[in-house]
Amino acid sequence: MKKILVIEDNDAVREEIAVILGFESFEVVAAENGRVGLERLRHARPDLVLCDLMMPELDGYSTLEALRRDPRFATVPFICLTARAERVDMRRAMELGADDYITKPFTAEELLAAVNAGLEKRGRVALETEGRITEVRELQSRRIRELYDLAVDAAAPPAAQLEAALKLGCDWLGMEIGGVSRVDGELLTVEQVHTTAGPALRGQRMDLALTYAGFTWAAKDLVAFHTIAASPHRDHPTHRLIKMESYIGVPLTVNGRPYGVLDFAAMGAQAEPWSAEDHDVIRLLAHWVEAVITRKTAADELAAAHARALEATRLKSEFLANMSHEIRTPMTGIIGMTDLLIETDLSAQQRGFLGVVKSSAQDLLTLLNDLLDFSKIEAGRLQLQYVGFRLREQLADALRSLAVRAHRKGLELACHIPAQIPEHVSGDPLRLRQIVINLVGNAIKFTEHGEVVVRVTAESPAAEELALHVAVQDTGIGIPAEQQATIFEAFTQADGSMTRRYEGTGLGLAITTQLVQMMRGEIWVESRVGRGSTFHVTVRLGRDRQCADAEATAVASPQSLRGVSVLVVDDNATARELLVELLRNVNMQPVAADGAESALASLRAAARRGAPIPVAILDSTMPHTDGLTLAAQLRREDALAATRVVLLTSSNGPREAERCREVGVVGSVAKPIVVPAELLHCLDAVAGGRAMETHAAAASGGRGGGASQQLRVLVADDNAANCTVAAYLLEKRGHSVVAVGDGRQALDALEQGGFDVVLMDMQMPEMDGLAATRAIREREEQTGGHIPIVALTAHAVKGYRERCLEAGMDDYVSKPIQPADLFAAIERALSTARRARVEEIASPQPPAPAPMPGDPQRLLNAVTLLQQDASRLLERIRRGVFAGDGGEVERAAHHLRGSLGLLGRSAAAAAERASRLESLAHAGSLDRAGEILSALEDEVARLTPELDELTERLSRLPGR
Ligand code: ADP
Repeated sequence: MKKILVIEDNDAVREEIAVILGFESFEVVAAENGRVGLERLRHARPDLVLCDLMMPELDGYSTLEALRRDPRFATVPFICLTARAERVDMRRAMELGADDYITKPFTAEELLAAVNAGLEKRGRVALETEGRITEVRELQSRRIRELYDLAVDAAAPPAAQLEAALKLGCDWLGMEIGGVSRVDGELLTVEQVHTTAGPALRGQRMDLALTYAGFTWAAKDLVAFHTIAASPHRDHPTHRLIKMESYIGVPLTVNGRPYGVLDFAAMGAQAEPWSAEDHDVIRLLAHWVEAVITRKTAADELAAAHARALEATRLKSEFLANMSHEIRTPMTGIIGMTDLLIETDLSAQQRGFLGVVKSSAQDLLTLLNDLLDFSKIEAGRLQLQYVGFRLREQLADALRSLAVRAHRKGLELACHIPAQIPEHVSGDPLRLRQIVINLVGNAIKFTEHGEVVVRVTAESPAAEELALHVAVQDTGIGIPAEQQATIFEAFTQADGSMTRRYEGTGLGLAITTQLVQMMRGEIWVESRVGRGSTFHVTVRLGRDRQCADAEATAVASPQSLRGVSVLVVDDNATARELLVELLRNVNMQPVAADGAESALASLRAAARRGAPIPVAILDSTMPHTDGLTLAAQLRREDALAATRVVLLTSSNGPREAERCREVGVVGSVAKPIVVPAELLHCLDAVAGGRAMETHAAAASGGRGGGASQQLRVLVADDNAANCTVAAYLLEKRGHSVVAVGDGRQALDALEQGGFDVVLMDMQMPEMDGLAATRAIREREEQTGGHIPIVALTAHAVKGYRERCLEAGMDDYVSKPIQPADLFAAIERALSTARRARVEEIASPQPPAPAPMPGDPQRLLNAVTLLQQDASRLLERIRRGVFAGDGGEVERAAHHLRGSLGLLGRSAAAAAERASRLESLAHAGSLDRAGEILSALEDEVARLTPELDELTERLSRLPGR
């Protein structure tokens, strides 16, 4: 049953209507005015409203308005009742949403016809609206699903996400171009575009006022024109120039600030305005775009901050690398000079003080080296060398330097390298040593009792590339599990407390880790607190194939040792077992003893059997009875006195050597045994009845005593301390030295002749070592001869050695200068030169002029000449300046500079002035020459006493 609400103030009319409708089975709800009508409306929910227009309290118009405002009744058919005279007002009623009207008085038929028509229309509208609502709802939910799909793919790059969002917007709205633009003042920058027609304007900048986006930006709200031609903006430049007809844009807000605009446009007009749903969905899309931009901005900012931080770290590391290099240079001076001072006449107390100065300086240098390495690695400036080297020799070198430390703490230091591991390998020997020194140094530092054992193995000893595995095992304090990972980081120590017992920077393992990684290996640790730690590293080395043949013979054992029985006495089981294995491998017959008592028992038993043991290897450090005491004991027992004793020792002090001689020890070998050949060589000699002291030879760094030949050495180094150290070391061996401050002076000095060898610093003012060497070699092309040149370098970077050799140098020594290294390098360079000379003589070419003899007389002559010439040359310069004769000034200044160059650093200032005069004259400008000349005269006057002293020293030199 349909329900009709009748609102009529006239009771009679109301009644009449109720009767007519009631008769036709309508349910009637009646109200006497608009106010009551609206109240009844809410409860009754009528299918149709019949309403009088003219009523007290609330008239028909207002009632209609209120009813249409309520969405529940917006579509309810509304039929007005009106007197004939009021017909003009019907227009107003229709505008407010009335569906029909009936003029009073009416017939029953008229009333029923109007009511039925109204009800029918309402049914149609309702159906239509419902259909449309379902359609819109489906469309919207499809759009939201599409947007959701987009959001799910949030891992895609921001540009791709924006592009996808724009494409979606274009599809939804049927537009051709979609864009995300940023607005900056009056400028719009297109950040992302999607277009189905025309060129993409990505990255383009435009005047905001010339774009439709300007409307959106100014409105701070959605702006839409379905056809611009019909809007007041038809004269807008975009419309005039491109005829773009439809546009919809939404402002974008990012991080709470206006950012730009998301908008869509098409060349054609839209048939009708976009619906509220279209607006809603575009707003939603804008939110998604804002989220993408927010994420992108944050990521960009993070990346920029990250890049800035990395760059700052790199710069800091570079600064640190430079600084530590700078600090190292004076440190080498301090250590060198302390070395010299210790050698002079001092009281015991002074010597003690200097000892502390030296060890502190050395500690500081170690620290600086660590810092330098670390910062070089951080700054990406550390390069590895790749050269052939002998593996065991390098490891032996590394371990020997630590053996003394281990010995002092009463620790056993042992090393095991199986025979099948090749000796000749390629890689960076210094850095490999550094790795081993770091690990073994730590092991000794963190161990109070027991032993440190280095075991070297290789994954594929026969392959082209050697994967070396070094394990350093200690019986020390161990590392708690939770700290085992962090100790490899820079500046981290397991015990970071203020009261920690062990010193250190926490850089050692960080550097080691980096070096190991650069050698394409790994580092790890196994450790238990209180039980000890084992640090493992693997590194990849090349095989030096050229040396493989030599290797095969090198490992072979001497024939004389086959079957010879040998007693091994060592209290440390590991060291003992390793030694027994080594001896067994070369077919000797080792007998092991863990101390004096069992050693004596074995020796005596063998003697009793009539097969005395001919050789005994005794560890020097053992509890109760040490090696030397045991050796003395053997000598006292007739039956054992013939046994030849070889001592294994970690201390190379002169006192031990003396005691060895006293108790008849015939050979000694330094511990730990890394190069078996050393021990075998010694045993071979001992078994053959020769006395042998490999240890003594190793400790003194090669040749002992004075050099066989007295040399005249030219030292070119701008650092006074280095010059003095080199000069002292050389002069102590009876060589004579001339020091100069740069490469140019070195050239001048060599021109005067009389040198046997040159020590050349690399970095010098004016002309560096490489340039000077090249010039020297060029000159030798003309004059013949080959003066040996040894480079003095402060650092060993990749390719440095090659660059030295390429420039024509013969060898190089790194600073701080170690006497043994220096003499060895000089010796090598001289022998190369000698060989070259022999080859030269043997060659059928015409003989080159004889090389300059090492004659101090010639230098003396040169100095004397300078003494005489200086005033004459100065006079020539003065006259030249006065007369404006540049040629004369240049010649005389050149001559004087050459002679001054011979005097080294002390004359550097004078030589520099002479050189400036020379270049000024050469350039033809003598304006400031007078001023420089008087400075030069002062300098030369200051030099006179030094020249006298030098003359005297030279006259006293041997060989004159
Ligand atoms: P440093 O020795 O200068 O402190 P490292 O980087 O060499 O720095 O070592 C870092 C830390 O790792 C040490 O402070 C120590 O706590 C721990 N560590 C290293 N080697 C050992 C070891 N063999 N035994 C016990 N702890 C060790």
